Amino acid sequence: EAIKEKELFGHPMGLFILFFTEMWERFSFYGMKALLIFYLTKYHLFSDTAGNLLIGSYAALVYAVPVIGGFIADKYLGFRKAIVFGGVMLVLGHLGMAYEGNAATQSVTGEIARDNTALQVFYFSLALIILGVGFLKANISSLVGELYKVGDKRRDSGFTIFYMGINLGSFFATIVCVWLGEKFGWSYGFGAAGIGMTLGLITFILGKNYLMGKGESPVPEFLNKVSLGIKNEWLIYVISILSTVIFWQMVQRHEAVSMSLMIAGAASFIYIVYYAISQLDKIARQQLFALTILIIFTVIFWALFEQAYTSLNLFADRVLDRGDIAAGTFLSLNALFIILLAPIFAWLWVKLGKYNPNTAVKFSLALMLVGLGFGSLVLGINASGLGKVAIYWLVITYFLHTCGELCLSPVGLSAVTKLSPPKIVGFMMGVWFLATASSEFIASVLANIASVDTSNGTAPDLNIAKESYLQLFEYLLYTGVGFGVLLLLFSPLVKKMMHGVDTDDSSAD
Ligand code: GLN
Repeated sequence: EAIKEKELFGHPMGLFILFFTEMWERFSFYGMKALLIFYLTKYHLFSDTAGNLLIGSYAALVYAVPVIGGFIADKYLGFRKAIVFGGVMLVLGHLGMAYEGNAATQSVTGEIARDNTALQVFYFSLALIILGVGFLKANISSLVGELYKVGDKRRDSGFTIFYMGINLGSFFATIVCVWLGEKFGWSYGFGAAGIGMTLGLITFILGKNYLMGKGESPVPEFLNKVSLGIKNEWLIYVISILSTVIFWQMVQRHEAVSMSLMIAGAASFIYIVYYAISQLDKIARQQLFALTILIIFTVIFWALFEQAYTSLNLFADRVLDRGDIAAGTFLSLNALFIILLAPIFAWLWVKLGKYNPNTAVKFSLALMLVGLGFGSLVLGINASGLGKVAIYWLVITYFLHTCGELCLSPVGLSAVTKLSPPKIVGFMMGVWFLATASSEFIASVLANIASVDTSNGTAPDLNIAKESYLQLFEYLLYTGVGFGVLLLLFSPLVKKMMHGVDTDDSSAD
């Protein structure tokens, strides 16, 4: 007799296991990321430009490797095993970050002496995190999709709930880890991230039964077979762990990262076209192409949005009239707004019924909103006279950015699981994150428009800093709005290519 699936709030119990696992994973991820630019510029005395580029390279790899992690899960491991493996790597990586070493020093002549051992431990920890996210991030999102049958009306709201888990983690992280890091030292902030990830891994392992056998390997016999003296499953783990050496080296070389992104992007694109032509009928093919167009536009969205952890974080530190509030704390506004607004947006989409804008229109709104968010800072800087910029301008920025994110990110995840042919969902989820990867790199290059010279070891002049942020934010304002309008013009075509999948879920059941 079949066991009836346990439900909670009308959703499969498995959703809540994934919710809490991802909540802790994102706690560790964002807690660490919020501290990163300050750790680099204030502790290891990196220039703004070098710090931004390191974050760009790291974040690009973090979101690029899920393509490989997704592919390996689709073909061999299944989502569940991939997530456990990724979780273990993440625990190791975040705990490695807690090793601090010595702060860099600057002599009167301006020469900087850095603790190289500490830096190499740091780069290697980043490599472990890159591998870990690579195996976890896309696969846990795909597993959310697996919990629902094709046409299940609960799918979108399932993703919205999941997305709130992501942001609950990010909210606490940007408060707790930033506070610990500021008050007690870097290793406390980074260490807290490691503890969070450990809790996430435990949640996932203990919650296994609630997944009802979803996300298991498509080829269990293959995994158990022995080649080269060990089981194939372990062979996959060993090879993956060896690959950390590559990431360890790459994260220190941003040209290598940008080159790899271009190659990975081109290769994925060719594979998608090849797959669409050789394996799919006309409708499925057009749906896959529609998804691909949407994914390309997300590159621009995230390139603007991801200023948060580089230029916006430094802006908050230097230019915002923030009193005693730690600059990184402002990052929690995005997560807070998501938690408050996600249910409203989810409700709104349903409420709008047949007036619910299609995914392409929502994406174009997202682009305009992220651009307008920078418009708020342009106004704020202009209104600040010779003083610092008032906090509420940045609050408005994060509010608009969050509204944009809600029009694009959860909707997009859901669209990936609906518009991809079932056999390559994991891979396409990886491609979704590959787009984010490219934008992370582009974001850091853009952030460098506002790099402020700190080489004489003193805080940058307020008005020089304001001038450079103004230049960057104006540019981002026009970019967001411009590409938003462009996508809006293309949206009827994209909608047609989706063949109703995205607008009328109920017709499929
Ligand atoms: N904030 C979301 C998350 O962490 C989206 C990240 C992204 O796709 N760039 O999952």
